[in-house]
Amino acid sequence: MEKLISTAEAHRILTQKAFEYRRVVRQSFQGALGLVLAEAIVADRAYPPYRRATMDGIALRSSDCALLSSKGLPIAWTQMAGKPLPPSMLPEGACVRLYTGAVVPAEADVVLRQEDCIEVSTDVVRSSAVPTKGQNIHELGSDLQEATLYADMGYVLSSKELAALASFGYAEVLAYQKPRVVVLSLGDELVSIAQKPILPHQIRLSNAYAVGWLLQEWGFEVQIQENALSDDLNTISKTFEHLSGIYDVVVTTGGVSVGAADFVKNALKRIGASILLHGVAQKPGKPLLVAEMRASGRQSLFFGLPGNPVSAYCCALRYVLPFLRLASAYKIQEPQRVELAQQIVFNPALTYFLPARLVEGLAWPMATNTSGDLFSLGRAEGLLELPALQTIFKKEATCLFYPFKEQG
Ligand code: AMP
Ligand code: MG
Repeated sequence: MEKLISTAEAHRILTQKAFEYRRVVRQSFQGALGLVLAEAIVADRAYPPYRRATMDGIALRSSDCALLSSKGLPIAWTQMAGKPLPPSMLPEGACVRLYTGAVVPAEADVVLRQEDCIEVSTDVVRSSAVPTKGQNIHELGSDLQEATLYADMGYVLSSKELAALASFGYAEVLAYQKPRVVVLSLGDELVSIAQKPILPHQIRLSNAYAVGWLLQEWGFEVQIQENALSDDLNTISKTFEHLSGIYDVVVTTGGVSVGAADFVKNALKRIGASILLHGVAQKPGKPLLVAEMRASGRQSLFFGLPGNPVSAYCCALRYVLPFLRLASAYKIQEPQRVELAQQIVFNPALTYFLPARLVEGLAWPMATNTSGDLFSLGRAEGLLELPALQTIFKKEATCLFYPFKEQG
């Protein structure tokens, strides 16, 4: 590890990289949910595209209303939804029987609900209702004019936007692709969850799930490797080279510190990757390493998170997630400003990440045994981030809180 850089510097490096990783793709409509739009969406025609009946009933001229309560109106024809109008006009003194969604003939300016009609015979209608002009007609273009800008670049395509895109006939849409991510664990002590029996010196790998599923909770597709890589330089370099040819982002946990079995940095150097940062002035997560790998002409970003579960989770939340969001053109999730429920004293000149729980707007830090204590995370709802170079954080002081889950 070289000289530690500040958290702000680490974010600056990653923000710059994230813009380089943005990719606009022509996405099929079926796969567009949750992506950010890279083009403006425009109405292809007026909506509704014809004068639409909003009720089952009859369409008539309002000038013929008086006839309704006297001799009644003969039914000229029946108009079903999904059928074009007949070429003939609606004769004066007559009406059209129609159903919701049907085209209202140009001559009619009222639709009278079926419930208000007294049917005298199958082809004459009478009613004592006095309908008002325009009633129950969804006029052509009354929702949107043709060529109206509906959603601009930068919109996140939710179900509502996709309904509009479907209406406008966008079978494909230009959108920002989400990076393809893989998460894997490094360490000779790690075994998969299925392994039985487990020996006393072994640990079941949990980081790949914690990190992978955190990113999935935020809407990213992540491949989680179920088996750990052993602490062996050859194996690690070959695996990194292979994965960099497939994924846009490779996330590992373990092996980034300065121990004799910490081979990540050497493996990256061996395959010609450039180290962008190694060592951030923070606790936990100090050995964080970020590099760029190149394989067969394409680039992929490498995040080496420390193996301790709390460190790995904090780094995933504060570095991997913001990178993925920015590379996918999402807005960065701003932290909440919360008040401390109790005083915290922290002496090292490092940014301090502290799992915490919010109760009525007050942040209660969760006691963590060590950064290996993954169970302390269980009850926490997010991370407090306390700035370096300050030692005493008084009760009720305002500080930044990064929730683990996306806030609505
Ligand atoms: P390392 O960063 O490789 O020195 O790992 C630090 C410690 O984190 C190890 O001693 C393990 O106890 C723990 N650890 C590493 N990787 C994982 C993992 N994938 N799941 C759970 N614990 C891990
Ligand atoms: Mg290790």
